[in-house]
Amino acid sequence: MATDETPPSVPTLRPLPSLGVPLLREEIERARRRRVVIGGLVIGGLAVIGVTVALATMVGGGPADDDDVEHATVPTHVGYTPPADAAVPPPDTFVPSVPVATEELPVGTRTVHHFGQSAGFRPALISAGLAGADADAIITALTGVMDFRRCRPDHELVFERDAVGVLQRFEYRATITQIYEARRGPDGALHGAQVEVPIERIDLARGGTVVTSLGDALEQIGLGRTLVGTFVEVFEGRMNFNTETRAGDSFRLIVVEERIDGAFLRYGTVQALEYHSARRGVLQAFHFAPPQDPRTSGGVREGARPSPDEGDFYDETGRAVHGGWLRTPLRYDHISSPFDPRRMHPVLHRVMPHNGIDYSAATGTPVWAAADGTVTWAGDRGPNGNLVSLSHEGGYESHYAHLSRFAAGLARGQHVEQRQVIGYVGTTGRSTGPHLHFGLERHGRFVDPARELNGPGRMLPASLTGRFRQEIARLRGLLQDIEIAPVAAPATPPAEAEPATSHDDVMD
Ligand SMILES: [Zn+2]
Repeated sequence: MATDETPPSVPTLRPLPSLGVPLLREEIERARRRRVVIGGLVIGGLAVIGVTVALATMVGGGPADDDDVEHATVPTHVGYTPPADAAVPPPDTFVPSVPVATEELPVGTRTVHHFGQSAGFRPALISAGLAGADADAIITALTGVMDFRRCRPDHELVFERDAVGVLQRFEYRATITQIYEARRGPDGALHGAQVEVPIERIDLARGGTVVTSLGDALEQIGLGRTLVGTFVEVFEGRMNFNTETRAGDSFRLIVVEERIDGAFLRYGTVQALEYHSARRGVLQAFHFAPPQDPRTSGGVREGARPSPDEGDFYDETGRAVHGGWLRTPLRYDHISSPFDPRRMHPVLHRVMPHNGIDYSAATGTPVWAAADGTVTWAGDRGPNGNLVSLSHEGGYESHYAHLSRFAAGLARGQHVEQRQVIGYVGTTGRSTGPHLHFGLERHGRFVDPARELNGPGRMLPASLTGRFRQEIARLRGLLQDIEIAPVAAPATPPAEAEPATSHDDVMD
């Protein structure tokens, strides 16, 4: 047993989550002594009970408790200590897991374990105290329903057992919305399915005034600061929120809030945005999703940004607020070398066209696809070092050179979406320091990304303008009805208000 292989230092209380360090035997015994069995009577149970306050601090890293399967049949009492010679299971078969929660059901019990550091799905089930046959039945039921390779330590395994301890239902909770179950049917077998999690969507229509920053103003009216990012991105071409935000600016927005069981889950689509800027006047943008699949309907989507419902933001005239490209495919420190057809090369010391823009950034900085596209190259390419090339609509190809590494699983032929991470800044190939060389070709000729990508967005096609106008009229009406929450006058003169936010705070 690997408990003899004493790791260099094993903390008395293990950190959260478990680091997967084998537990020392003493430590296991100490943990057992701490155990306080809670919960009421378990009738003839194979049910796993046994969670203590102390153990709650050891989530996912606690000691073995296959013994509890038997001990649970013993009348429960506080302070129960299992025999000191209880066998400790060998860790090479599994890392033992302790339930993080146990609760009484009307009939039976429910126990929750973390996936923890188990080597796989089956070991996780066994670690949680399941018999091999039950584990296999769950795996059979969920094969094709969930991807067992996607398990992570913080995912939860939920076991519901009836009064006599027979597993009636297993639930795998990857996220709050991604839940799979294996439920015992009338035929006695377990049947797998993804659990439908009903998400409530509520339109919030709010308005506010900037006093200190846009983020503060959003919080003031009960919205999240993350929405700052939407303002920045949607109005990117029309206002610089870093430098042009002023105290006294006001805004209105309509955003979908998604809830589960009444609790906030996340923001969905921002449907309409309005910003009254002292510097830039009134800015408005509206979210509009063309009715049919735009990828196949001829160009509507060229220039669109990805969003869950494939829509995009348009100004009041029906022009997309974005030209379809990220202005920069990463968060950078500075431009170390612009596009220049007659540059003196810093390494080769001769005039060579610089067919792109060099963005200086730390090694490891994520690099995003500048637009939706298809991977045409992902590999080493001489002076380019690790290079990713993407082909896009409209005869464009973009290139990302000198990467330290590629995004996991990135392969030629793969479709990528705008702002998807494709690799990480590095200094591979012919390079003097960590930077991204970003190149852009149109129909096989290198063009200056700074000029090419900052054009205005496309107009909606004429076939959609009727529908768009209707939708905009509705949203404008709703915006107009939003009362802007009054604010107390700022204590200091508003003239030199702090910038609303730094770009770094708001870009993901
Ligand atoms: Zn370069």
